[in-house]
Amino acid sequence: MRNIVSVCRPLALPFHKETTYIKHMKKILVYPDEILRTKAKPIKNIDGELQKLIDEMAETMYKAKGVGLAANQVGVLKRLFVMDVTQGEDGKRGELVVLINPKIIGCEGQEVMEEGCLSVPDFSAKLKRPATICVKAFDREGNEIELEGSGLFARCVQHELDHLDGICFVDRLSPIKKAMFRKRWQKIRAEKEQKV
Ligand SMILES: [Zn+2]
Repeated sequence: MRNIVSVCRPLALPFHKETTYIKHMKKILVYPDEILRTKAKPIKNIDGELQKLIDEMAETMYKAKGVGLAANQVGVLKRLFVMDVTQGEDGKRGELVVLINPKIIGCEGQEVMEEGCLSVPDFSAKLKRPATICVKAFDREGNEIELEGSGLFARCVQHELDHLDGICFVDRLSPIKKAMFRKRWQKIRAEKEQKV
């Protein structure tokens, strides 16, 4: 995987006090890359190398203005994702959540919400998913955590967990909507290639 070198800048996140600068951004894979269709493997060691990956993923997510980013999306088949559903529209960072080996242990209700994905740029669609979820995982420091929430939080956790299972949100569209997506996606990609 080729890293895109970016300008060094300080991180204003409390979790990242010990390292002040991040030099590398990760390249985000675009649908239908094979790695996005592959199931990620459980993480056995939470060490410095993994924490470096986490920090690079967080930086990449913020830079791309996303609310979540799974390891598959940067070409790493490890069960890990980062998210921040509290960041402001002006780009102000909120609370970063890191979930390692996440498992949904409870869900309730149903909700239809518009979804988008950094790996499927310029496309969004409405999807029905459980409204409230409870997730168990390990954080960046290796502590076991349990989080419960609804709205964008629940939506983002389910979307990112799908990535770790090799599922993209467009795979969950109805057959009709999927056919519409394929047409639209061909057009989006063709326009993009013309610009390059
Ligand atoms: Zn996504």
